Amino acid sequence: MEGRLNRSLASSLEIVNLVDYHTHTYLCGHAVGKPVDYVEAAISANLVEIGVSDHLSLSIPEDSVPLDELHLYVDMVEEAKRLYEDRIRVRLGLEVEYSCDKIESIANILESIDDLDYTLLSIHKIGEWVINSSKSKDRYMKIDLYKLYEEYFDLVCEAASSKMFQIIAHIDLPKIFGFKPCEDMKPLYEDTARRLAKAGVCVEVNTSGLRKPVAEIYPAREFLEVLRRYNVPITLGSDAHKPEDVAYHFEDAIKEISKAGYRCISVFDKERRMEIPIF
Ligand SMILES: [Zn+2]
Ligand SMILES: [Zn+2]
Repeated sequence: MEGRLNRSLASSLEIVNLVDYHTHTYLCGHAVGKPVDYVEAAISANLVEIGVSDHLSLSIPEDSVPLDELHLYVDMVEEAKRLYEDRIRVRLGLEVEYSCDKIESIANILESIDDLDYTLLSIHKIGEWVINSSKSKDRYMKIDLYKLYEEYFDLVCEAASSKMFQIIAHIDLPKIFGFKPCEDMKPLYEDTARRLAKAGVCVEVNTSGLRKPVAEIYPAREFLEVLRRYNVPITLGSDAHKPEDVAYHFEDAIKEISKAGYRCISVFDKERRMEIPIF
């Protein structure tokens, strides 16, 4: 881990202050490792902060930390915070599935967690369709892709305007299997960026798309450039489901971030956003 990131960043020694704000744990049932394992990996990768952000999903409960184990999750992250406080900042986060008919229950759960540093807003499900499930990817071939992206970004903006979430995870997830509209996406990106800037949320640059068929970072380069023009802040996440994936391909993310014109990323302390320079 250490060798990998350090070697690849060696030619860009001016890069400082990297963080990974998107990691999971064994509690969600489809990842491995405890918070301390991700923290150790983050230290090896020379990060200055690591955020643990396991799934909280009322609409896809099989992929979520069980509600009766949420306190255990919080305790484990808090313990990691204490154990490693001299070596790295550890943040308590959650990746929360947005679903408009469950918004009150979600709000109640989030309010019950003291010391939550941030929530990642994520949308994996539109209606009954889990869009990142390979079992149902044929559906992409039967629908109007532009309309899908339009609907997806609408949902993202609706969720962002609730002010319950600090960061939007994998903002263009519908591209996961490589299905993209033929139409020019710029107007849609512009409209979305304008609404997100108004909502005051941060967008995550997520490298997990590089591990998927699309083989691309979320958001797409053109989208990231538009977000920059609208002054939408960003942060950085690997969406690691195993400790070895902490800081996964961050060297590629940094190139995209730099090309788009960003010089800072955001970090969160008890939901309060701060900017730190990365160049
Ligand atoms: Zn996700
Ligand atoms: Zn995730």
